Amino acid sequence: MKSFSTAQKQILARADLHLSTLTEQQVIQLVHRESDVGHLGDDQLVEFLKIANATYRGGNRIIPDEEYDFTYLAELRSRNPHHPYLSTVEPEFAFEGKTVELPVQMLSTRKTYSIDDVKKWLLEVKKEAVDVGLELDQIRLRVTPKLDGYAAYDDGEHLYTRGDGRRGTDITRVFERGLCIGGEDRRGQGAGEIVVSDSYFAMHLAAKFENTRNFQASIIREKELDPLTEQAISDKAAVFFPFAALPSWEGNIDEFLAKFDELANEVRNSVCYDVDGIIIEVVNEDIRRNMGAARHHHRWQLAYKENLERAKVKVLNVRPQTSRSGRVNPVAELEPTRLSGASIRNATAHHYKMVMEKGIGPGAVIELVRSGLVIPKIENVLIKAEPKIPERCPSCETRLIWEKDFLICPNTSDCPAQIENTLEHFFKTIKNIDGFGSQTIKKLYANGIRTVYEVYLLDKDKLIQMGFGEKKTAQNLLDQLQRSRTESLEDWRFLAAFGIYHMGLGMCERLLQHFRLEDVFDLKMDDLESVEGFANVAAKAVVEGLDRIKNRFWNLHHLGFNIQSTQLITEGLESINSPIAAKLIVFTGAMKSGSREELKSQAKALGARIAASVTGKTDILVIGENVGAVKMNDAKEKGVEIITEDEYLARISRRPEKLMADVELQPDKQLSLFH
Ligand SMILES: [Zn+2]
Repeated sequence: MKSFSTAQKQILARADLHLSTLTEQQVIQLVHRESDVGHLGDDQLVEFLKIANATYRGGNRIIPDEEYDFTYLAELRSRNPHHPYLSTVEPEFAFEGKTVELPVQMLSTRKTYSIDDVKKWLLEVKKEAVDVGLELDQIRLRVTPKLDGYAAYDDGEHLYTRGDGRRGTDITRVFERGLCIGGEDRRGQGAGEIVVSDSYFAMHLAAKFENTRNFQASIIREKELDPLTEQAISDKAAVFFPFAALPSWEGNIDEFLAKFDELANEVRNSVCYDVDGIIIEVVNEDIRRNMGAARHHHRWQLAYKENLERAKVKVLNVRPQTSRSGRVNPVAELEPTRLSGASIRNATAHHYKMVMEKGIGPGAVIELVRSGLVIPKIENVLIKAEPKIPERCPSCETRLIWEKDFLICPNTSDCPAQIENTLEHFFKTIKNIDGFGSQTIKKLYANGIRTVYEVYLLDKDKLIQMGFGEKKTAQNLLDQLQRSRTESLEDWRFLAAFGIYHMGLGMCERLLQHFRLEDVFDLKMDDLESVEGFANVAAKAVVEGLDRIKNRFWNLHHLGFNIQSTQLITEGLESINSPIAAKLIVFTGAMKSGSREELKSQAKALGARIAASVTGKTDILVIGENVGAVKMNDAKEKGVEIITEDEYLARISRRPEKLMADVELQPDKQLSLFH
């Protein structure tokens, strides 16, 4: 970059940003790191931040957002933590169109980059909980993925950009262009983001658009749609995703901290869009009300972002690696490079289709991104090279087949890699066992062991015959197997150990909050769809996956494990004295007594279970305004009780005064956004 591009100049003009304390030359030098942030005056620093923010939001960024956060914003914060720029909502790039006052004020989210900061925030939350008279274990947290998209607000009629948080631009045109809504396809769910599927972008759009921001801007722009953008909209790869519809985790503080890493990882991967962290928020209305909002953000909500770093690096070789599911993953071996304080030698590409299309072969130069301790991801291919596509499984030599974008080893019955990885996954997941790492597993495989069940049938003589040390190792392994059956084991962990597609620890736990372990193998798609988070996450795949492991599961289960059952959500709820306790309720249409989110959290406080869409399991469908006839008829056919918002309110108000006061709707109608 030698000067601003035409697009960047247009963005700056539209945002009404004019260079006053900096020259274009100085900006360019900063971009190329030829001059240092330390030499900037405060006003220059803020001007640079504004330019970087506007170009980023306009889809033509001058610096990566990590650099914005960690170099420039951090510099301003360290110089003057109370600088007004730090407490203004970073304005969303203005598209053409008239600006209007937003129906609700849209705030930013406070960001943190370390678990220590998250813990500090939790201390504040605990203090507030004590103030409002709650026990610490009554504090409920909700965790959702932090979408890295284009923020907007859907009031049911119009879609607005966030603008400066108070006034936005009408961009309803994106719906007229066919943009679908993520989650349940319904308008009027409030704030959300326009996002694009990660893999779709990599596959179909990366050649044309510099980054996802750049693509998102192309959906919104007034001028005619680019054909690729049009295709992405009609393929539903790009959607407007309301925050209310995002998959989420809920639990108390201890549960949250006990599995923070796992949880963060799982939540981040629960959607297929660009995600740059997680959002943690307090669910309890009382605490929220007490904590309130600062100018810039709600105090009861926090974003946890990881410290991302990028590097350019050369690919030495791409090695195929067969996973437990039979997918053959391309692992790029790299020239050793330092990233986020670690030496990196390997990185993964999504799949072999990507390797082929992007030209990731020996000699290619790629851009790597690493976040936290996660294996680095290939973000961009800077220089292509002829890729090598394997024909046979590196583990069992079986001829590979293509399944959509993936290369698959079809030899499920005796491919060493698939079996060894399946065994390893089991022991790694149940956790109450040591000694069954990859070396032990390899040795067991070499001696004819193929299933977890067979491992549990081993005795000392057999282990010694296999070459495990007579004095210590063999007995150790037996002791550990015994331990894993006597020490308590959560039912969701046990189920997750079988490695069903889509069923990580979090999803298993959620499933078992709704159904008993012994019943999950009889579930139909309809049953699953009534559980939050399963509607879109391919309920079909889960039913098939459960069916596939059924026999293996019961064989092992019969050996006897000390399995702890998760408490069913309905168990706690039935004891609540409320006319809707334990009922499965769906709200649809525009509500008038409060936002749908408010009504949902009120219903939850009254012991109801909430689902996004109507299934045969739904008890009550509460309809607001503008509900389509198709939806109503569908619910009628399923025998669901349909009531209006007024009827619903009348029903729940037949309750003791005291409880109603506890769940009074929150007067504060501010909504927040993730940026
Ligand atoms: Zn194989």
